[in-house]
Amino acid sequence: MAEHQANACEILSVFYSSRHPAIEHLFVIFNFDFSNSICSGWQFAIAMVSKCFNVRCDFCGQSIMIFRMKKLKKILLILAILFLTFFIIICIPENRKEIKTKHFTFLFSSSIDTIKIAELSDVLEGNYLRIGNDLKTTPADNIETNIYAQRWRYIKATKNWGGSGNIEGISKLHFVEQAWGETDIKKVAVHEFAHTVTLKLLLDHEPQPINSKDFDKKFSTFPTWLWEGISVYEAQQFVDPKSLPFLSNGSYPNIAELNNRSKGGKIYKVGFSVIEYIIDQYGQQKLLELIISYGNISKVLGVTEDVFSKDWYNFVKQKYLK
Ligand SMILES: [Zn+2]
Repeated sequence: MAEHQANACEILSVFYSSRHPAIEHLFVIFNFDFSNSICSGWQFAIAMVSKCFNVRCDFCGQSIMIFRMKKLKKILLILAILFLTFFIIICIPENRKEIKTKHFTFLFSSSIDTIKIAELSDVLEGNYLRIGNDLKTTPADNIETNIYAQRWRYIKATKNWGGSGNIEGISKLHFVEQAWGETDIKKVAVHEFAHTVTLKLLLDHEPQPINSKDFDKKFSTFPTWLWEGISVYEAQQFVDPKSLPFLSNGSYPNIAELNNRSKGGKIYKVGFSVIEYIIDQYGQQKLLELIISYGNISKVLGVTEDVFSKDWYNFVKQKYLK
């Protein structure tokens, strides 16, 4: 039985010469090997072969399935129907409900229980003055709070693929009902609301009238560790340091690591104690100065970032790791 090796060049040539009379059969080859890590998952290849059903993979040389073109046409048709169905579903606007409270307007998927929204509104209204007072600013008057039952609807509305919530200026919040890494939707809501209050504080200290383009550029430099730290602290998203191996074994993160959301998002786990440490050691006023200075630790706290991280870790050790 003839044997043929598929490679990337052939994949291209078949694509562009599939009507050539010399081609007797056009096969789509799905190569899979679950036992061998060389080929992880599915390798997709198209190869031109003649009466050949034994096609070897260049990568692992194992397990191959062959589909004739007829089957490929069926598969493509099914995929096209699925894609069209999906496209129609995402284009149908969602049925949403609205509830207004003193400072918030809740717009939420109709499948979310109204009682849940009522509980959420109590929590947000209860935190409205408290967080405004903590950060010495007045939050926006009426905050549009969008809550999504499905993550894809949240992504469609916000274009935010990596998170479970975000803000749009000082008067708009978005978040999903089921957040990643946080089971309590009330904390997610307070966390996002605290972001709007932090942003309001920054805007209060900008020369008026604000040039939004210049401000956006400046705001993009605001450090993640402080931005997320404040929200984690205000939403009481405390994670016991004893449960975090990198704290109990002494390899505490530095500021650069806390600024990196993609490297395990450590700021979400330690943000509470970082802000708690600043308030405990330096006071609320210094925290506000730190925010207004865009996290300039050496200027506001008079220590280097490395010393700050070390001192914070000692505080954590004393208070939580004994
Ligand atoms: Zn956040």
